[in-house]
Amino acid sequence: MPETRLDLDEALRAMLDDTRPLVATEPVAIAESLGRFAAEAVHAPINLPPFAASAMDGYALRAAELKGAPPFRLPLTGTSSAGHPLTERVPAGGCARIFTGAAIPEGLDTVAIQEDCERDGDWVVIKEAVASGDNVRPVGHDVAAGSRILPAGRRITPFDQGWLTACGLDRINVRCRAVVGIFSTGDELLDPGETPGPGQIFDANRVTVRALLSRLPVTVRDYGIAADDPDQIRQLLTQADRECDLIVTSGGVSVGDADWVKQVIDDIGHLRLWKLNLKPGKPVAYGRLARAAFFGLPGNPVSTIVTALLLVRPVLERLCGGHPAAPLAVPAILQGSLSHQPGREEFQRGTLASQDGQLTVSATGDQSSNRLASFALANCLIRIPKEQGDLTEGSNVTTLPFGGLL
Ligand code: AMP
Ligand code: MG
Repeated sequence: MPETRLDLDEALRAMLDDTRPLVATEPVAIAESLGRFAAEAVHAPINLPPFAASAMDGYALRAAELKGAPPFRLPLTGTSSAGHPLTERVPAGGCARIFTGAAIPEGLDTVAIQEDCERDGDWVVIKEAVASGDNVRPVGHDVAAGSRILPAGRRITPFDQGWLTACGLDRINVRCRAVVGIFSTGDELLDPGETPGPGQIFDANRVTVRALLSRLPVTVRDYGIAADDPDQIRQLLTQADRECDLIVTSGGVSVGDADWVKQVIDDIGHLRLWKLNLKPGKPVAYGRLARAAFFGLPGNPVSTIVTALLLVRPVLERLCGGHPAAPLAVPAILQGSLSHQPGREEFQRGTLASQDGQLTVSATGDQSSNRLASFALANCLIRIPKEQGDLTEGSNVTTLPFGGLL
């Protein structure tokens, strides 16, 4: 397999083109649907609001009956409160006490707000002019029966859950969870709680990758740590391929003697892409086994995280039935300077802040790809285009806030 060295956006496009959403769907309770992907478009079964309702506390009336200039004096006949509509008809020239959310009584069309009115026994004096329809939420004002409230592939938000429920729905068809297998590779790696021997370090990547990917509706299968041993890697990949839709490993995709992962994929599957014009994360590998798609992320923890955010996440979103959008890009003024050699697109970790109405960003110190410390104060990635040279203080840069990447 020749080195392809695609740019990040070209590589992502190729990966997304290569990804078919999983087809299985299941009905779930709206209350359980947060973060799931709608399997099909959802249409409102009813009008919302289902009846004309008052938007304010006040007095409901017929606007056409107010002749001349205020004040207007109207007899009061009855009350409509939320959940307790007025059943009798309000006679011509009359008005009804009404509260927010209450049904507008039959034949009335307007609400004068209580702040503009004065009670005088069984009469109401309306002191300000009102126009027909004031303070009334018409039937279907929020959504009309039959109109689309969610498109297929929508990732369900808390707001959607509220809207679906307001429309009287209690279940929704969503895509089934994708099964994602993860393992780390490296003879030096230990699980938490183990006692380090000489030259050993704790596996930081599995827990991070698991947490990052678990923000999507997936079931994660954790295959642990594989030694730098091609047979063990082959055996784990073969097992994961039977059990998963996507496999994400870390380590072993570079060009060292112990970097077996890429070679094993080449051997038992199809390596589609290897090495991008990207920093950190250059040696990332992407391919397919018999059943599952495969990402081999580089082992340095920062490279693992950056490639998981920029590549695995959108591909997984597509696999889950979503329509991944480009991450939110926010322009900011650089504080401090950055060194960058033209060649690879780079993503540094940065702290985005608002200062005197301007967005500023500063890099979080040493950006070496082993330094998890570079994430400690970070809330964004700073994107440095591949052709860019060094950046001086005050330069305009593009940031990708983590909120748009997770
Ligand atoms: P590799 O990509 O396997 O060549 O690893 C590159 C660097 O990342 C080496 O310093 C590894 O020790 C380190 N590394 C690999 N995997 C992990 C991991 N799971 N957690 C922490 N560091 C790792
Ligand atoms: Mg390694």
